This record gives sequence, C-alpha cells and structure tokens, in this order.
Amino acid sequence: MTKLVYTFGNGQAEGRARDHDVLGGKGANLAEMCSLGLPVPPGFTIIADACSAYYALGRRIDAGLKDEIRRGLETIEKATGRQFGAKDRPLLLSVRSGARISMPGMMDTVLNLGLNDETVQALGHDAGDARFAWDSYRRFIQMYADVVMGLDHEIFEEILEDQKARLGHELETELTASDWQQVVSLYKELIEEELGEEFPQDPEEQLWGAIGAVFASWMSARAVTYRQLHNIPGGWGTAVNVQAMVFGNLGNASATGVAFTRNPSTGERSLYGEFLVNAQGEDVVAGIRTPQSITEEGRINSGSDRPSLEKLMPEAFEELTHICTELEAHYRDMQDIEFTIERGKLWMLQTRSGKRSTKAAMKIAVDMVDEKLITEEQAVLRIEPSTLDQLLHPTIDPRVDRQVIGTGLPASPGAATGAIVFTAEEAVEAEEEGRKVILLRVETSPEDIHGMHAAEGILTTRGGMTSHAAVVARGMGVPCVVGAGTMRIDLRNERLIGVGVTLKKGDIITIDGSAGQVLRGEVPMIQPELSGDFGRIMGWADRVRRMTVRTNADTPADARAARAFGAEGIGLCRTEHMFFEGERIHVMREMILAEDEKGRRAALDKLLPMQRLDFTGLFTVMHGLPVTIRLLDPPLHEFLPKTEEEVVDVAAAMGMEAAALRQRVDALHEFNPMLGHRGCRLAISHPEIVEMQARAIFEAAIAAAQETGAAVVPEIMVPLVGLRSELDYVKERIDAVAGEVMTEAGMKIDYLVGTMIELPRAALRAHKIAEAAEFFSFGTNDLTQTTFGISRDDASAFIPTYQRKGIIEHDPFISLDFEGVGELISIAAERGRRTRNDMKLGICGEHGGDPASIHFCETIGLDYVSCSPFRVPIARLAAAQAVISNAQRR
Ligand code: PEP
Ligand code: MG
Repeated sequence: MTKLVYTFGNGQAEGRARDHDVLGGKGANLAEMCSLGLPVPPGFTIIADACSAYYALGRRIDAGLKDEIRRGLETIEKATGRQFGAKDRPLLLSVRSGARISMPGMMDTVLNLGLNDETVQALGHDAGDARFAWDSYRRFIQMYADVVMGLDHEIFEEILEDQKARLGHELETELTASDWQQVVSLYKELIEEELGEEFPQDPEEQLWGAIGAVFASWMSARAVTYRQLHNIPGGWGTAVNVQAMVFGNLGNASATGVAFTRNPSTGERSLYGEFLVNAQGEDVVAGIRTPQSITEEGRINSGSDRPSLEKLMPEAFEELTHICTELEAHYRDMQDIEFTIERGKLWMLQTRSGKRSTKAAMKIAVDMVDEKLITEEQAVLRIEPSTLDQLLHPTIDPRVDRQVIGTGLPASPGAATGAIVFTAEEAVEAEEEGRKVILLRVETSPEDIHGMHAAEGILTTRGGMTSHAAVVARGMGVPCVVGAGTMRIDLRNERLIGVGVTLKKGDIITIDGSAGQVLRGEVPMIQPELSGDFGRIMGWADRVRRMTVRTNADTPADARAARAFGAEGIGLCRTEHMFFEGERIHVMREMILAEDEKGRRAALDKLLPMQRLDFTGLFTVMHGLPVTIRLLDPPLHEFLPKTEEEVVDVAAAMGMEAAALRQRVDALHEFNPMLGHRGCRLAISHPEIVEMQARAIFEAAIAAAQETGAAVVPEIMVPLVGLRSELDYVKERIDAVAGEVMTEAGMKIDYLVGTMIELPRAALRAHKIAEAAEFFSFGTNDLTQTTFGISRDDASAFIPTYQRKGIIEHDPFISLDFEGVGELISIAAERGRRTRNDMKLGICGEHGGDPASIHFCETIGLDYVSCSPFRVPIARLAAAQAVISNAQRR
C-alpha cells in the first residue's frame, strides 16, 4: 500500500528534498531541514496523491488516511510532549498546503488548530499568558471560518473594529485577555447566526475540516487560473503539511519573519528580509503592521528608525545567519525562508529556492561559481533564458502601479512610451520632428514598415505571435503588443477605446511588450544594463553549446545589432521589406502590373542596383559569416495600390488608364493569399524576379568580399517549396545567373542553394528535395500553419479560448508542437540527411528563439537556430542548456 503520511521531527525525517514530487516543495524541504538537524517544528506531510483520492471520493478523507494521520499525530505528540485536544499542555497545529511547484498565496492555511473553549484555557495557563491564548483562539476561529466554513473574513474584521471602537482602543495590541475573550464569543455567535451551526469544538473534526479545505483549495478558482498561467498540470494535487504550532506572538521576545539568503533584486550576498515582533505569519502578509528589517544594513538602507532583528534579538539573528549559510551550502542556491522566534528560540518553517530578478539571478550564479558552490554548467542552467529579455530592453519600473487599459499578446519585449498615431506616415513624420509615438494599427502589413521603424512601440488589435507586426517588431527590437482584442481602434474618429477609457490621437500610452499590456500615460522605466555577469554566463554557455545561433535580419542595422548579441550568421533575410522602401514600391508596382516580360524586366533593372546595395551592406556587416537570403515570398497583391488615390498615381506613372489598372489589380486579388500566389510560385510565374535577385546577391558577394577581404558564400533560399520540380526550376535560374556573373567577373563564386521546409509535403518528400537542395531551413511559422490548417494571422481569435478550455496547452505558433509539427521536422531531417548526409539543417521560424523549441532542435540534431536579434542571447543560453540537460538525462 502506498505510504500516505511522512513524518519529520527531532532531527529525523521519513522524506527528503528529492521527494518533492510526492511531498510537495514545502514538505520535502521541511523533511530535508529536519535531517540536517535544523530546528523544525515536528510534523508530517500528507502526500499530494492523497489530494486526487480526496476528490475521487467526492471530497472525503477516507478511513485509511485518517488512521495514518492519527499515527502521524502520535509522533508529533511524542516529540513535543503535548497532546492534541488535551486539557493540559494541548498540542496545537498548523495545517498548510504545499504543491510540487510553489503557488504563492493561491492555497489555504489554517493556524492554531486544536483550540476550543477548553484548550484555550490550558494554553493560557501553559504559556502564562491568557491574552495570547484568547488572541490565538480568535485568530483560529476567523481563519477556520474563512477557509473551512466559507465565511468571509471581512465580517469578522468588522466585529473587531466595532469592539475596538467601543472600548476606545486604536491598536489591537491594546486589547486585553478579556477583550479578546469577548471577541471570541461574538465571533462564535456570528458563525451560528450566519451558518446555523456551532463552531466545531472537537479538535479532530477541526483537523479533518482543515485538511479537506487545503485539498479543496487546489481547485479554487484562483489556483486553477494560476496553474493555467504557469502551465502547472491540474492532476498534481497539493500535499498537506501538519506541524506543531510555534508562536511568534508569545510576547516581545517572539517574532515571525521571511528572509532571502541573498538580495533577490540585486543578487548582493547579504541576508535580506523582514520580521514583526509579537506576531503570527499572516500578520506579515496582511500588511496591517509595517515589518522591520532583519539586518542593520537593511534598516539603514530603508531609512527606518525601528530596530532590526540583528539589534533586537542578536542571538536568534546569529543563529538565523548560520542556518542561512548552511542552507545555501546544502542547496547550493539562494533560499527564501520563513521563520518564527518563540520566546527567543528560532524555528524554521520553510525553505525554498528564492525567486529573483534576472539581474540577481546572473549575479548569484556567477558569485556561486566563484564561491565554488556550483559549476559553470550549473550556473548556465540557473538562468531562465526567456528572462534575458529583461536585461536587453528598457522595462517598466516594478515599483509603479500599472493602470492597464488593454491586454494582448507579448509580441516583442521591452516597454515604450509615446503619443498615439494611427498611420505609418504619421509615425515617420513624428520621428522627423523628434516626437516619440506608438503606432496603432488593427494589423500591420509590409507597407507599414517605415512607420514601424519610426515608432517607439507598436500596438495591434488583431493578429497572433507570428503576425506581420509581431515578426517584424521582434526583428527590429521594437516593443510590441499584438492582438489586443480588449481594445478597439476607431480609425474614422482617430480614437482608441480601451478598458474604461477612450483615447485620441496624441494621447500618451505605454506598452509593455514583455507582459502584453497597454498602460495609460507615461510610466517610469529602468534602462538595460549588460553587466559583466551576463558576459561570463554567456561565455560559459557558448563553450558547451553545439548548435550555432544565427539571426533573422533584413537590414545592416539589424545584422549589426544581432552580431553585438553574438549572432554567428544570418539564417533568414526576408527580402520583401526591401521592396517597400521609398521609391522602390513604385518600381515594384510597375513590375507587377507590367503587361509583358519586357515591361517587367525594365522595372527590375531599376530594382537591381538597389538590391545589390542591400546585400552588399548585409554581407559587409557579416564579414564572411554565413548569410541566408530568401527569395521574394509574399503574395504579389500585397504590393498593389490599395486606395483610389494610389491607383490613380500608379496609373499616371505607368502611362495607363486608371480603369485598366484597376482591372489588373482586381485580377490579382486572392481569396486566400497565404495559401496562394506566393513563395516559389512567384518565382515560377515570374522567373525574372529570381534572376534579378540572384544577380544582386552574386554581385554583392563579390563587392563585399573585395571590401572586407573575407570570402562570402551566399546561401540562397527558396521559400514554400512542396515539389522537387519547383526547386529544380528555380535552382536552374539561379545557377544560370551564377554562371553569367562568374563569366562577367572572371572569378568563381561559391554559393549554396537550399530550401525552406514549410509545407508538410516538403517534409515528407525531403529525401527527394534534398537531391536538389544543399540545405534545409525549417520555416516553422508556415509549417505550423499548414500542419494545423490554422491561419497564422487569424489564430489569435480562438487560440486563447483553446488554451482556457484545455484543448491545447501552448500556442503552437509560439512553442513548437513537438508531436505534430515536430514529427514532420524529424522526418524531414532524417530523410534529407539520408540523401545528403552533410546537409546543413536549421530553423528560422519564430520558434528559433523559443527555449523549449530550441531544446527540441538540439535533441534532433539541427545545426543551427535562427531568431530575431534580441533573442540571440536567449537562443545561445537555451542551446547550451539543452546540451547540458540532454547529457544529464543520458
Ligand atoms: C516561416 O514560415 O517560418 C518563415 C520563417 O517564413 P515567414 O514567417 O516569412 O513566412
Ligand atoms: Mg514562411
């Protein structure tokens, strides 16, 4: 039979820290501290599996478990020399939750359990302090009634306030034993009135009630929401920890507090925490009294004149400091602890790995390597890669109150403040005048690119994590929130309608692209600071990393930023944006709308020098590092004139009738452009585009190599290939142009032609495609879209509902769907390499910057991941962590 109850106390424990999946974090660490000989009040842990059994039985504790709990109680009684329910030296209990992963404040606790009309007398007698006993009893009633009986604690607060007013007291500390005794009677009367039942006097009944309530709190609405937000499986359940009470409210030599073994915001190596004299744990949380600093240093820093624990209770402080050092040495990590001092005696109530800011995490990891507590590899594992965002971008000062007026998806990290504008043109104008703006669009398109560059931040009300706005903003490192469906843009009246507010053009907002929030007004920010610790951790990561990390960059500026973050090549240069800048869009329109090949070639001849310049710039910045350039990909219609005014302009420029032009535009309309005339299909209908792009690439490679002295081996990538014959056709054009340029230049150029794998058919036929392709790059944005049959631009309308309803766990456009899309990638990698065993394999979809997806790429042996510049450090760290954790698993 499974053991359901694990005891601990007096230097012995049945569990250990490693049992945290069974005992929950709190229970496992209480057991561990006990085994280390630290002062822990004796108790026992009911395992988390008992929580599911409780639900399976229709919220009942079965007899077998009750028997085990009774045996657990006996151990506590033995260890304390007290008896549960006794009229002399009664044992009182604390009943606390403890899930596998800490869910702060989400679940319930009951303290002082075992008090009733008789034991309260005994407790008072025992402690020599009747006031303390009655105060504890009223606390117990209030907490129990709230947690177990479902009565809101506020109504008890009202009674207390009335009582204080009646007695003419301002502070609770002024209430005497008999005052508290009266409060207890009033509380009990209230319970009878409200619930029609008496407050339970039988300690065992109280215990079953409290344990059941802790189990039940696992399914409370707030706990369920918390789990959804943090991806915690609902099936885990919570363990329950039952311990002998120790009292921080037993007079002025007693106290209770919380501490971090190092500073959680800076990482400084000094004890950091707060305590309250003559108080119980919940008083610290309740915020009624202002806690005091534990150390003198902390007291001085906070400018407080109230004494520190160091001064007030030097012996307990000294012991606490020793224990903290011992815990750090044992766990080899910064700890977050709870303690109580009962009449001068220190008790440890909890220890766990402390939450910390990214900056602190870096410092602590690096310091612990220097202190020889952990290895460099362990230090690398200590940093959550996605949190590096916090270091690279300005962020909102955590101390400010956020006035959130809308929420969406956190598409591109960092925070930005500016005046609202509704068009790209206004953003550009503002930039020229030195004004800061946030560009608001329902969704963006390539036409908005100049405005997106000019804006401080971007906000859209539609679109998901791979929508145009999201992808482009991340690439530029511009903070961005997309799909803010709680807000509405009223373009006609130039208004933004948010939660409880309507803003107009020019009003100031702040967006937090890391949290997906829109805030009103200007908000104080913290500027990024790349300290030496960051460099050291990244150095250690680079040493163990196997995959290379490239970047998705379309401009020399992006490429330069990415190199500064450690990019080792360009994995994807999307060339489409190059066609929207300045005059180019006009030439592009002439090309698309030309009636014959001659007309198209004339327009392309004008584009060639511009493209050559673009590529020369990129190659020069990358100085011989690999650069993958993708041929034109988007549907042609995106380049077409949209408004009547534009049609008239373009027609005039082309010497055409506006009506005829309009007809051409209509003819190019597509119902489903994402699955339409795009990718290599464009190259096949208009090979002259490929020829122009290939020529620009080769000529630029020669020019850049001459300028930098570093040979350039361009990698030309064909998008959206599904058939080997498509690739053959396009590759033939590229090879022909290469031949021409080599003859003209009188020199040999090395280059590679490869393809994106972004259609299921391409993945399945990879062995055939690999006969023509010299490399594969997984375009997981389109591959996710085409595997699921979910439009990447429309997904945000229902994916959040899917997540809320538990249909899917993660948004597959953010974190790779390992089972489906992942299997296609594995198949393609394996089949591709079967044909060409040295084939270079990479990923350039948005998943290339997602830590979990990067782990997958490492596991299946890809050569590189490619992501937007600001995610390069994240990818470097995640790639290293994948190597280390895969090795540990072996
Ligand atoms: C992809 O589909 O994953 C990709 C990188 O291409 P794009 O996002 O430009 O379609
Ligand atoms: Mg694609």
